[in-house]
Amino acid sequence: MIPRETIDRIYATAKIEDVIGDYMSLRRRGANLWGNCPFHDEKTPSFSVSPAKGIYKCFGCGKAGNAINFVMEYEQCSYTDALRQVAKKYHIEIKEKEMTDEEKQLENERESLFKVNEWAKQWFQDQLFNTEEGQNIGLKYFIERGLREDIIRRFQLGYSPYKSSLYDAAKKAGYQDEFLEKTGLCGVSEQGDRHYDRFRDRVIFPFFTISGKVVAFAGRILKKKENVGKYVNSPDSAIFSKQNELYGLFQAKQEIAKQQMCYLVEGQMDVISMVQAGIENVVSSGGTSLTHRQVLLLHRLTDNVTILYDGDAAGIHAALRGIDMMLEEGINIKVVLLPDGEDPDSFSRKMNAADFRQYLQNNNQDFIRFKTNLLLKDAGNDPIKRSNVIRDIVQSIAVIPDIITRQVYIKDCAGLLSIKEDVLTKSVIGYRKQKYSKHSDNQPSAIAAISEETPDREQPDNLPTYEPTNLQTYKPTNLQTNLDKNVCNLLKVFIKYGERPLFGTTVGKYIIDELAANDITFENPLYEKILQEYKAHLNDAGFTSETFFKFHPDSDISSFAIEMISEKYELSTIFSKQNVSENLKKDVKLPTDADRLPELVPQLIYELQLTIVRERQTYIKYALQHAQENHNEQELMQLLKEDMELKNIEKQLCKLLGNRIK
Ligand SMILES: [Zn+2]
Repeated sequence: MIPRETIDRIYATAKIEDVIGDYMSLRRRGANLWGNCPFHDEKTPSFSVSPAKGIYKCFGCGKAGNAINFVMEYEQCSYTDALRQVAKKYHIEIKEKEMTDEEKQLENERESLFKVNEWAKQWFQDQLFNTEEGQNIGLKYFIERGLREDIIRRFQLGYSPYKSSLYDAAKKAGYQDEFLEKTGLCGVSEQGDRHYDRFRDRVIFPFFTISGKVVAFAGRILKKKENVGKYVNSPDSAIFSKQNELYGLFQAKQEIAKQQMCYLVEGQMDVISMVQAGIENVVSSGGTSLTHRQVLLLHRLTDNVTILYDGDAAGIHAALRGIDMMLEEGINIKVVLLPDGEDPDSFSRKMNAADFRQYLQNNNQDFIRFKTNLLLKDAGNDPIKRSNVIRDIVQSIAVIPDIITRQVYIKDCAGLLSIKEDVLTKSVIGYRKQKYSKHSDNQPSAIAAISEETPDREQPDNLPTYEPTNLQTYKPTNLQTNLDKNVCNLLKVFIKYGERPLFGTTVGKYIIDELAANDITFENPLYEKILQEYKAHLNDAGFTSETFFKFHPDSDISSFAIEMISEKYELSTIFSKQNVSENLKKDVKLPTDADRLPELVPQLIYELQLTIVRERQTYIKYALQHAQENHNEQELMQLLKEDMELKNIEKQLCKLLGNRIK
């Protein structure tokens, strides 16, 4: 817990151009500094830093934020870690807030474990490169496996010798038994009279946290021995849980963020070989099926994961289980199947890097399609097995949070499974109802309310819902894009002028009340979060909306806010009847948004309402046609009635907006 005053001090002291300047070169041009964006590939600089505003913005990929956001994005670290890092740069001391003795002790223990591990990692590396035994055995092994020295150094591989002891060296360097035991670097003999090295006579693979601290080691044996496992891993400790780590994440994080995609492989050597082949966005789950925490860790970096399977069928079936968890998080999954008996390590060594990359590109396929085909092949013509396949696929499709994606898969798989699309749709809806019913607590975080499929008039939605008679073929119109634009315009005013007085209340409060009065809620959780945060902090001393959101700890919020406030044009020009360029010629000073809030804010809300009404009208038009084709008289009447009501509302709104919109 970093106290608020310290956070404020860090923000006040940090110069954004210096913080970013530590990571990349910037050149001054006018008031701003420019450089090549570190978050997307480019040859000419479109990444700008404004020292005056304390923000950065890339005009290529749209990334924007403050100094702390930059460190978070670049290092892929947490808000607190980024604050600590910047504080360190400016020698600002962070006094942790009221930690209990127990917390302090735990924190000290964690620090000590990290220190011992860091030291051990250095010692293992030193043994590998600088001792005769290390060179003749450990280094020789890596080189025979085809690893280049730069790759060995990149993954900080090491060697734990047979002849000399880590325990002795650690004691000499002043490390305590307690921490050598707790990290699992050393164990105690059964008689309790002496310590031994857990990793003795093995090559060493250190595991890093996403920010590069050593949490654990894996040691691989080089000679075959009876009753001895090929790999030994550090035991779970206060800093390490096998379930939580992804091997290679620290080395891969920037490339994953840049490529917006991550390869997932099974073993450590697979990761290392792929990096050597020039594919740096790759991590390993350590062989076992993925855990929820690993999925979240990955999802923080990207929405796209490509899994590499070796051709062995048994292995694939075992791995399929963990995948639904990724689908449920909204991750798009692709699969590359390697030839029978090959893993990424063996396969990448059989060809040159360019051919390997080409293979991955040419052979990726969609996961659900892949799974369907695989299971169907196994089932053959057995009707019972085939119906099991259908059930299995329904479960996978049903957990996908996005309704459009689900519909695409239903269409796709209905063909593959040779069953009717609406039968599959019904099964998916049924399974979702069962899994995500209101009383069940296993509703996934990202899931949209089930009301998409079971319209519930009581629940306000940003689009009024109607019985979707034929959901598969109805596509939202480009009004949807307008809708988002309207919402963003409104939020822009909300963020910039939230604390200003308006109609006896504040701009922000007025907007929130109006939205509530009109039953408008935002589908985008970020927008809702912005409204909630405002409500929670409106009465904080010295609250100004723009500063509050610009420096908000949630980087999604601060990036969005910065994007909104860095747009130059004044919204009120949209509503101005005068010709803007005429006025500019005459050098007339146009009124700004700030001058015109009492007009502007209601106009923005009317406009949003109008777009919602029009989206609804488009849907009604579509549904009418459908009802006509099916001779559904009752539905037809209902739709016509609603259509008339909507026309009236539309007319009123247009009037309020000064008939500007036809
Ligand atoms: Zn960029």
